[in-house]
Amino acid sequence: MEQVDCVVAGAGVIGLAIARSLAAKGLDTLILEAADAIGTETSSRNSEVIHAGIYYPRGSLKAEFCLAGREMLYRYCAERAVPHRRCGKLIVATDEAQEPVLATIHANAAACGVGDLRLLAAAEALTLEPALYCTKALLSPSTGIVDSHTLMLTLLGDAEEGGAMLS
Ligand SMILES: Cc1cc2nc3c(=O)[nH]c(=O)nc-3n(C[C@H](O)[C@H](O)[C@H](O)COP(=O)(O)OP(=O)(O)OC[C@H]3O[C@@H](n4cnc5c(N)ncnc54)[C@H](O)[C@@H]3O)c2cc1C
Repeated sequence: MEQVDCVVAGAGVIGLAIARSLAAKGLDTLILEAADAIGTETSSRNSEVIHAGIYYPRGSLKAEFCLAGREMLYRYCAERAVPHRRCGKLIVATDEAQEPVLATIHANAAACGVGDLRLLAAAEALTLEPALYCTKALLSPSTGIVDSHTLMLTLLGDAEEGGAMLS
């Protein structure tokens, strides 16, 4: 491979996803990684949360891409058997003074297109998570978790199957 169409610098989750996409388009792709292995930097030191898109500024690209991207990620994980769970998330107020903040978060999420948040009374939240202390909670059913290591190995596998090379 003396000449390639594309070089991707960095085999974190972003570089691997880009390489997969380029290879799928039939482009000769070389992935260059400085470390000894893929995904040893930020992509393996995060919380592995699939974000619902609740906190971004309304109308921002982040809000738009998070919503679209999370559904693409759920679909990809299901299709390629990447361990993941749409487990939901509780955002809690631990006293009454914090409850207006929940209302602000709720409104922002709705403005960003995340329409499935539900305000729960404390008793209802406790049925989901008995160890919790709160006065009210917001349930975000679209938030989930993903096994980032398997995700990156799967992206690399797809890229390599499309002819990409990792160096
Ligand atoms: C504490 C924390 C928690 C987070 N939690 C979440 C979360 O729950 N959910 C979520 O979606 N996001 C989360 N994120 C953000 C997410 O982890 C990052 O957005 C994502 O991992 C960035 O991926 P990346 O491929 O751009 O970077 P990286 O994973 O850092 O990959 C960059 C790669 O490039 C390589 N590299 C750098 N320079 C060169 C070079 N010159 N030549 C060759 N290779 C090079 C590095 O070695 C590295 O492997 C979190 C981030 C942090 C810090």
